[in-house]
Amino acid sequence: MDEDDISVRVAVRIRPQTPREIIDMCHVCTTVTPGEPQVTLGNDKSFTYNYVFDMESEQVEIHENCVATLVESSLEGYNATVLAYGQTGSGKTYTMGSGFDVEVKDEQKGIIPRAIHQLFDGIHTRIDKAQECGMLPPEFKVTAQFMELYNEEVIDLFNPSYSKDKVYKIHEDPYGGIQVKGVTFKTVVSAEEALQCLRIGALSRTTASTQMNTQSSRSHAIFTLHIKQQRLVPSEDESANEFETLSAKFHFVDLAGSERLKRTGATGERQKEGISINCGLLALGNVISALGDKTKRALHVPYRDSKLTRLLQDSLGGNSQTVMIACVSPSDRDFMETLNTLKYANRAR
Ligand code: ADP
Ligand code: MG
Repeated sequence: MDEDDISVRVAVRIRPQTPREIIDMCHVCTTVTPGEPQVTLGNDKSFTYNYVFDMESEQVEIHENCVATLVESSLEGYNATVLAYGQTGSGKTYTMGSGFDVEVKDEQKGIIPRAIHQLFDGIHTRIDKAQECGMLPPEFKVTAQFMELYNEEVIDLFNPSYSKDKVYKIHEDPYGGIQVKGVTFKTVVSAEEALQCLRIGALSRTTASTQMNTQSSRSHAIFTLHIKQQRLVPSEDESANEFETLSAKFHFVDLAGSERLKRTGATGERQKEGISINCGLLALGNVISALGDKTKRALHVPYRDSKLTRLLQDSLGGNSQTVMIACVSPSDRDFMETLNTLKYANRAR
């Protein structure tokens, strides 16, 4: 298959052992085949993906290998989605950079802050280039949204108190674009403003979940940048120059923890939670697997099976590019969950 034909890429990232795991003398049960995107769990369970990042990999590597081209494409009007999948504690939030702690060292910054800087650098380069050539520079408008999906319900992280008893409707326009009616859009004119939005939303995610007595590990967090661009299309005859409008959506998704809910003790609300989360992750697995399978792709992609896949519908498949980063722990006590994640990711490939 032609590389450019792949609309869904899958990466596996193994985080380093935590101090706790080292104290507890957990063994490392993952090995990466040198020079190959292959990981072996235990002695003989091997899986191959588009990329595999071992314990010592750095944030910049993940961004440059998996995300940078998607940001470039978004500047040309293509939609993109980056998803972090894995059990709670496997490194999803660290990898995405969707936590609210501002004071992380530059090299520890995750995907979202890196993508934001790359995007605004790209915008400035384009404007400067046009001006250097004496052309009318393109005009950009970037807006941000930050939503949480909890129990198949949407929470607007820029307006969480208002979201509490509101039902947001997911709407599909005649061109196949998806909008969530009533969710706040914030216009951001610089990387700093976009990062500020990210922090505010991340902070309200944790406070909202404390108030509602829920765990953020059971919800999906979706940070979205909408990039609108108006630019001049030069033609031979200068008086026939025309404007074109490009618009792209870039979703960054920190998915709910993929661990199986313990059957015992999970009743009522909690049980409902467990079921609906599995429904989102299950539907996502089915959609991504259908997209990767050319014969199935033509037939039916089951976007409508969950709010998550419905919301991401216009940015998964078609002309959009998707990267799923499956995060895993290297420690033997997480063996079974790691195996589940590797299998899920393998299906998606
Ligand atoms: P999740 O969001 O999947 O629940 P976190 O991103 O919160 O997991 O990661 C759990 C812990 O492991 C955090 O303390 C985080 O800082 C640390 N961690 C995760 N991935 C890495 C990594 N690649 N390098 C260093 N520390 C990491
Ligand atoms: Mg997390």
